Amino acid sequence: MRAPRTGKPSRSRLRAVRLIVAALFFTSLSLLFLDIHAVLPPWAGESGLYFQFLPSLVHGMQALGAAAGGFIIVTVITLALGRVYCAAICPLGILMDIILFLKPKTGRRPGNGYAPPHRAVRYGLLAATLICFAGGSMAMITLLDPFSNFGRMTNTLARPAVILVNNGLARLMELAGNYDIPPLSLPGIHLGMAGSALGVALLVSWLALTRGRLYCNMICPVGTLLGLMGKAAPLKIRILSDTCNSCGKCERRCKAGCIDSQSGTIDHSRCVVCFNCLDACPTGAARYGICRSGPGLGSSSKGRQRHPTHTRRGFLVALATALAWVPGTSRGKSSITVTVPNKIPVPKPAHPILPPGSISLDRFTSTCTGCHACVAHCPAHVLQPAITQYGLAGLFMPFLDPASGFCNLNCRACGSICPTTAITPFSLEEKKTIQVGVVTFIRENCIVVLQKTDCGACAEHCPTKAVAMVAQGRIREPRINEKICLGCGACEHVCPAKPNKAIYVRPHRVHQKAEPAAPRPVQQPLPETTGDDFNF
Ligand code: SF4
Ligand code: SF4
Repeated sequence: MRAPRTGKPSRSRLRAVRLIVAALFFTSLSLLFLDIHAVLPPWAGESGLYFQFLPSLVHGMQALGAAAGGFIIVTVITLALGRVYCAAICPLGILMDIILFLKPKTGRRPGNGYAPPHRAVRYGLLAATLICFAGGSMAMITLLDPFSNFGRMTNTLARPAVILVNNGLARLMELAGNYDIPPLSLPGIHLGMAGSALGVALLVSWLALTRGRLYCNMICPVGTLLGLMGKAAPLKIRILSDTCNSCGKCERRCKAGCIDSQSGTIDHSRCVVCFNCLDACPTGAARYGICRSGPGLGSSSKGRQRHPTHTRRGFLVALATALAWVPGTSRGKSSITVTVPNKIPVPKPAHPILPPGSISLDRFTSTCTGCHACVAHCPAHVLQPAITQYGLAGLFMPFLDPASGFCNLNCRACGSICPTTAITPFSLEEKKTIQVGVVTFIRENCIVVLQKTDCGACAEHCPTKAVAMVAQGRIREPRINEKICLGCGACEHVCPAKPNKAIYVRPHRVHQKAEPAAPRPVQQPLPETTGDDFNF
């Protein structure tokens, strides 16, 4: 029998490699949401996105190809090396490790030893997720997918904080006569979204601080699925019986609670190959190498089992378009004062306006995981997270909200970034004919009719001139050409009528193809007037 090593164990090289890979992925995926000035090239954020298991799997179900290869690579790696995804690729898992690392190093460590496998909950949640997915519902995936939860938390909580810091710095530098940092507009705060993101952040933090990787080993369907694959991996953590002195240090350092040092067994379905145990073991008995599984979930070199185990450029163009779109106004709002309130309420649609490229309501709600990558990348802030708009099955999925902005004609950001193809990629040429809905004019609500005043904000902002002002007697009223309307929401967004809009988008359940926009029509001249008739 080899003499036990004494003194502080040397830092495992494997663990160092894991930390480096995890740092790279975490940085990449954080930048995807937090690079507010698009300083870095798109691949910096998108390379981490490619390997996100569930988004890539959903993508692969739509169309197998190189773009959907991320989940295949993760599967192959897991079958060979164990849950490397959970150790170094999943941003939520890495975030939990960071939270744990920042915890004051006093008191008990999370879990502090072997934990029960919670198999009923674990496999129950995985089964429920698979059944929902097979039935066309993304609800469970949206709620539990680690990348989507990370995306929503980062976009809802961290991104506004980064913008606030940016704006503070911009103001300070402005005072010193330096204008190098441009201030940015803060996205609107959705209380429902902010509350849910905060709730998940608190839950994940509490679980990380008190139970290590319990989220990954009890709640996360990706963790459970990869755990089943990881059990079959030939390379595993194992404990050599001839050198182990049963001191329990590996068990206490294991953040997954999957080592039973007394029996020398490891539940490989829960091992997240963090390599902490390799570092902790004073005798070198904990090893990572070829290992044949024993009976049940656990395996042991001692063979004894006690517990049951188991485009930057594109972004800038879009941003410039968004800023240049509305001359003289900040977000395209009209400066007309409403003196006569209107009365006709805008009808509530059966479903919200779908993002361009999403093709149809059914396809969109069965492929979106609610990760909010598109929400973070929409320069117009028109993509907003739904709470009840799609019904419960569409919780957190994005929709086009004309109250927040309007979809830019020269933008394809959401289609370029969506990892699941819930929003399919489209070219700028295609974008010019994607009709997500058509507008309806409520004449009785229009300021021109009610106040006898000039307006025309809708026609002015319509990118295809589907809304044009035509003379009706001595006033000019909006007239709609549905064939060239794209449903972008520009007219609805800028319409100053109150309390109800005079023009609104009726969303299509299945996107249509608009006719290419004709050259801007010549505005009809108004008949001569003395100016006494209307109180302009
Ligand atoms: S549509 Fe948006 S929220 Fe849904 S999967 Fe694509 S990027 Fe994520
Ligand atoms: S295409 Fe429209 S909805 Fe999509 S990111 Fe651009 S402005 Fe936003």
